[in-house]
Amino acid sequence: MRFELVFLGSGTSAGVPMIACDCPVCTSDDPRDARSRASALVRYTDDQSNLRDLLIDTSPELRQQAIDQRLMRIDGVLYTHAHADHILGMDDLRRFNAAMDAPVDVYAEPRVIEQLSAMFRYIFEPHKNVQKSFVADLIAHRIHPGQTFSLFGADWTPLRLMHGRLPIVGFRVDAFGKSLAYCTDVSAIPSETYPLLDRLDVLVIDALRYRHHPTHMTVDQALEVIDRVRPRGAYLTHIAHDIAHAELEPRLPDGVSLAYDGLCVSLTGVEAVAPDPG
Ligand SMILES: [Zn+2]
Ligand SMILES: [Zn+2]
Ligand SMILES: [Zn+2]
Repeated sequence: MRFELVFLGSGTSAGVPMIACDCPVCTSDDPRDARSRASALVRYTDDQSNLRDLLIDTSPELRQQAIDQRLMRIDGVLYTHAHADHILGMDDLRRFNAAMDAPVDVYAEPRVIEQLSAMFRYIFEPHKNVQKSFVADLIAHRIHPGQTFSLFGADWTPLRLMHGRLPIVGFRVDAFGKSLAYCTDVSAIPSETYPLLDRLDVLVIDALRYRHHPTHMTVDQALEVIDRVRPRGAYLTHIAHDIAHAELEPRLPDGVSLAYDGLCVSLTGVEAVAPDPG
């Protein structure tokens, strides 16, 4: 019985290090300061004891993230929103089509599916391509905030979040009596969403930097949400180069940690598994 969350990427839209920046964090030797664009893997055993791998978002670094984690299959992709840092790895899903000899199911709000279809027309309307070529084979499924659906024995609930003025979704996942919520790219949580964040074992929340930002939470705002929701453990993600891991981590309250690329959190194990980042 396994239920894990793996941070494939913990960085903001520009990634860390950023192009053309020589600040102390962008030039840090600490591997936890190297943050690829935000995405996560949710891994759990189904009722046949098969391991299932579900991706939240396909970052531009999906290829490297999948290689680093030795992902051999993907049982579905769930999209939070259609910003470039969360979708541009979509093209690389075709490798999973080839490896599995099967289409990949993708789940998103109707508006996000429209945006994906417009940006990746060659994938969604392959019959209009000049010639037949190897494009991803995806099956789109429409999801709605607050409407729970089941995937391989786990319950997935899209959570309405506000990303500045843009409504997006996070996800709550319930399996084996444990629960996690993944809330990236959020600046405000609508009141109707708070009841869906009840009794969480793990909350992942956006904490871009220390200074105010119109579309992301600051570290202090994220800590306020954690204080209100009271999960058993919390992880900050979508982190910019303003934050040095070794500088902030010791100052965080008990039970709150900074995510880093490759961090695996086990919900069914005795404690979280934190691989040596070196
Ligand atoms: Zn983002
Ligand atoms: Zn920098
Ligand atoms: Zn975004």
